[in-house]
Amino acid sequence: MARVIFLGTAAALPFAHQTNTALALLPDDPSSSLLIDCGGDVYGALLRAGLGPDTIADLLVTHAHIDHIGSLPSLIESFRLGGRRRPLRIYAIPEVMAVIERLLDVFSYELTLDNWPYAVTLDTVDQGQERTLAGMPARVFRMDHSIPSIGVRLELPNGVVAYTCDTQPNPNLSALGRNAQILVTECTFLHQHAAFARASKHLTALEAGQCAADCGAQMLALVHRGMEGDATAARDEAAQAFSGAILSPTDGDVVEV
Ligand SMILES: [Zn+2]
Ligand SMILES: [Zn+2]
Repeated sequence: MARVIFLGTAAALPFAHQTNTALALLPDDPSSSLLIDCGGDVYGALLRAGLGPDTIADLLVTHAHIDHIGSLPSLIESFRLGGRRRPLRIYAIPEVMAVIERLLDVFSYELTLDNWPYAVTLDTVDQGQERTLAGMPARVFRMDHSIPSIGVRLELPNGVVAYTCDTQPNPNLSALGRNAQILVTECTFLHQHAAFARASKHLTALEAGQCAADCGAQMLALVHRGMEGDATAARDEAAQAFSGAILSPTDGDVVEV
């Protein structure tokens, strides 16, 4: 049984009990897992989820906003200090990989990957391409955000997990989430703030519900929530457009697939 762990559920601004949005995907063999995004206190969130420094095999970075990439150098360093020995593969689209290389270069006086106790490799992906992430077949889709951004569709033995990351409504969403068992979408705003959502190229909760309905998803999980305490409001609003199960997870929540 695979698991999705919601390591963080906040948007760009963390709250006392919500760090920036990040997911861990644990296949049947949880000792080789996938981490998606690395903002906020992602290393602490991994530990709280019981995922030690050697459990993450692959990291996918969806885009280069600080709340999704800002903790990458400290994550790599924390893995080292935590005793990691297994290689780490990092996947991103070319525009994001360029930022990753610059981020690592900033700390090159101590973060010298060619003399690191575990191997770190960088692999670019792009629209429509397939990769095997932590043993799971995965396909990447370009989203429509204020900077280049991707979502990912993971084919698990018992169903599809799809994750939009930051985006506004766009034609690739239907292919990303088609018939997904779980569609995880960002939900930065409630629809009363739809003008802000368009200006910053994000989804409202109502649009997330419409997206889940259009995709024929069985379950919708609302993350990257921009307002503290809005979990119930976001779920209620998404339910106006989607009749399936809707989760507004808190940090550390787990869903089995
Ligand atoms: Zn974000
Ligand atoms: Zn963003």
